[in-house]
Amino acid sequence: MSTSSETFDVVVVGGGPAGATAANDLARQGHRVLLLDKAGRIKPCGGAIPPRLINEFEIPDHLLVARISSARMVSPSNRDVDMPIDGGFVGMVDREHYDEWLRARAATGGAVRRTGTFSHISRDQDDTALVHYERRMDDGSLHEDSVRARAVIGADGAVSAVARQCIPEASEIRYVFAYHEIIRSPDRSHPLFDATRCDVVYRGQLSPDFYSWVFPHGPTTSIGTGSAHKGFSLRGSVAQFRKAAALDDLETIRREGAPIPLKPLSRWDNGRDVVLAGDAAGVVAPASGEGIYYAMAGGRAAADAVALFLKTGDAKALSTARKAFMRKHGAVFFILGMMQRYWYTNDARRERFVAICRDKDVQQLTWDAYMNKELVRAKPLSHVRIFFKNIAHLTGLAKAA
Ligand SMILES: Cc1cc2nc3c(=O)[nH]c(=O)nc-3n(C[C@H](O)[C@H](O)[C@H](O)COP(=O)(O)OP(=O)(O)OC[C@H]3O[C@@H](n4cnc5c(N)ncnc54)[C@H](O)[C@@H]3O)c2cc1C
Repeated sequence: MSTSSETFDVVVVGGGPAGATAANDLARQGHRVLLLDKAGRIKPCGGAIPPRLINEFEIPDHLLVARISSARMVSPSNRDVDMPIDGGFVGMVDREHYDEWLRARAATGGAVRRTGTFSHISRDQDDTALVHYERRMDDGSLHEDSVRARAVIGADGAVSAVARQCIPEASEIRYVFAYHEIIRSPDRSHPLFDATRCDVVYRGQLSPDFYSWVFPHGPTTSIGTGSAHKGFSLRGSVAQFRKAAALDDLETIRREGAPIPLKPLSRWDNGRDVVLAGDAAGVVAPASGEGIYYAMAGGRAAADAVALFLKTGDAKALSTARKAFMRKHGAVFFILGMMQRYWYTNDARRERFVAICRDKDVQQLTWDAYMNKELVRAKPLSHVRIFFKNIAHLTGLAKAA
């Protein structure tokens, strides 16, 4: 092992959407940033991103491999509801290229990129964080190295080693496990597949507590499912789903899965010099499993908090990351959490849930909330109407269509 005397203002651990965004923001403000990523694995992901993300984080067109113009919600009894997007689209990205582009942008902005696997943080004589990591040498051997950091951002994903070491609550985090298969997309003549539509299937047999999906990505397609139930066979479910969707005899390019955290941690910083972002902080939207936008928003909030900490030396600044994020997104997380707990519990409720999606007000509100990431204040009457319709469905007063 060798101990380096290299010192950075910030070491960002993890080069996914959260870490790459944080590193980019801080480097462009003139801070000395190390972006440490273990590399070598493509993040398993459906790759759906909203226009708000594309605009806010300046994502170029060439990273969009498909533009989705509607979603089809399918109920347990196979009734479906098409939800067209009025004048907009959902962008689809391939994480292999998307994440690499984000890391390259951070490097162009001045961040130092290094491939290595974070192992732990120790303390120097003057209490400064020493970030230890392993990197593979050309001869295949592993070499341990370390750098000094005034601040550390833990953006190393759902099973974050930084979080487990620095934030006690992180080891108790609960997950949905999501699994998908990347397949060769069928041609245009396929009777059940539409390259501009995402299919979202709510059926207990395919997932007892989440949903299953078909997300087209141009030449390839992600077909997957999720569940927090340990004994549930995700592979078995996807095999069954592929058969039902007549996608079973297409080439399978990759089979992969990963955990999705269920709830934001109640604390993201260690009160000293470490703050978390993205999946490491538990920020994936309940009910939808949407995490890319929230990872990038969390990366930006962590970067702002660290910039304030570096400027003032006051460690309390680190807690502003969670506060700022929850102020903007806490209400949506709360509502989606309630929806997941209520609607995803049995097939009778799933049937009613898909039925309410037939309602034009519900469709508009859903798309507005997803696309723009804010509840639309300009339409209070729609909210009231949807509230009463929801109550009617919750109480069973309205019958499934
Ligand atoms: C099957 C599946 C489908 C999904 N579909 C969607 C979707 O369609 N749309 C959506 O918005 N979200 C989706 N999500 C969620 C989304 O993928 C995540 O929320 C998002 O990737 C979180 O970004 P992140 O940067 O926090 O973490 P990650 O993307 O997981 O990035 C973490 C990074 O840290 C690195 N790393 C990990 N450990 C170490 C270490 N010890 N040392 C150094 N580096 C390390 C990894 O190499 C990786 O680059 C899906 C998730 C799954 C599992």
